[in-house]
Amino acid sequence: MKTRILAIDENSLELAKSIINEGGLVAFPTETVYGLGANALNDDAVKLIYATKGRPSDNPLIVHVHKGYDITELVDNIPEYAKLLAKAFLPGPLTMVYNSRGVVCPTVSCGLNTLAIRVPSHEGAQKFLKYVGLPIAAPSANVSKHVSPVTAQHVLDDLDGKIKLILDGGKCTGGIESTVLDCTGDVPCVLRSGLVTRDMVAQVAGECDEYHMVECERVRSPGMKYKHYLPRCKTMLFDYEHRAEALKEYKICTARGERARIMCDEQVARDMEDAKILNLGGDENAVAANLYDKLREGERVADIIIAVAPQKQDGVMVGVMNRLSKACG
Ligand code: AMP
Ligand code: MG
Repeated sequence: MKTRILAIDENSLELAKSIINEGGLVAFPTETVYGLGANALNDDAVKLIYATKGRPSDNPLIVHVHKGYDITELVDNIPEYAKLLAKAFLPGPLTMVYNSRGVVCPTVSCGLNTLAIRVPSHEGAQKFLKYVGLPIAAPSANVSKHVSPVTAQHVLDDLDGKIKLILDGGKCTGGIESTVLDCTGDVPCVLRSGLVTRDMVAQVAGECDEYHMVECERVRSPGMKYKHYLPRCKTMLFDYEHRAEALKEYKICTARGERARIMCDEQVARDMEDAKILNLGGDENAVAANLYDKLREGERVADIIIAVAPQKQDGVMVGVMNRLSKACG
């Protein structure tokens, strides 16, 4: 199969629609990472997502819809706080989990009676979802466990020959996957942290819990269970306080003849002498936006990525550190 990368216009949208209608897969940009989409009402199409990614079959998918879509067709028991949150944050990088009405095929939610819904703000994503007019099930458009893609080229690097079409919407500006919020209880609960932080949710909803995975429990938010975001090279992770040891390790690796890179933000980079740096940027939003791009650059140019955590650990950094420790832990 030949994989085409096309800019988003009338022609590529028409092609995308016909692929989706035939039960095929289309990769599309969002403000977080690129998604690998299929018709959520077509069980075989959804199964193709799992097969194409090599994704574990108990790791549910998010259903993506355009901003005019009436989600009460798909879910019910939408609590008042969820309506407030939707008003505050949608379209945007917040996925909300509700009770499913069973319209979407069960493979999407891996048999859970809940359904995760996302309304992306990316203009290209909106155009695609509107044009197709169907709920689109989509995980990130990478091979399972690999670093998530934030450019069309990243998608091609992972899925060349496996899908027909990648809609190119440029580099994703958000960089880490959406916040996943359980909205089935009296109080919203963060299942996966992201750019919409727990504090931001609490400010609108009054309160907000955070879920911590219990061993052996049924998956509620897969990002937690599996090894994830792994670059294809050796990795190490140091906390901010141990940054001097990271530099020492870099020197040891380099002396051994290994191609090493230190991955860190600008503040840490100032303490890294003349070491070769994968620079994540100066503030938390830059760090989130650059993380996956730098991990993928690192696996291309280095034998080992030595990551150093930023000093700041709250807000958006909660989501960043969650990914960083899975990638390099
Ligand atoms: P991915 O897009 O590959 O990062 O994975 C999709 C994410 O959707 C998972 O990490 C889960 O956190 C989330 N998800 C999808 N459906 C559900 C659901 N019904 N309940 C809880 N989380 C879900
Ligand atoms: Mg993923």
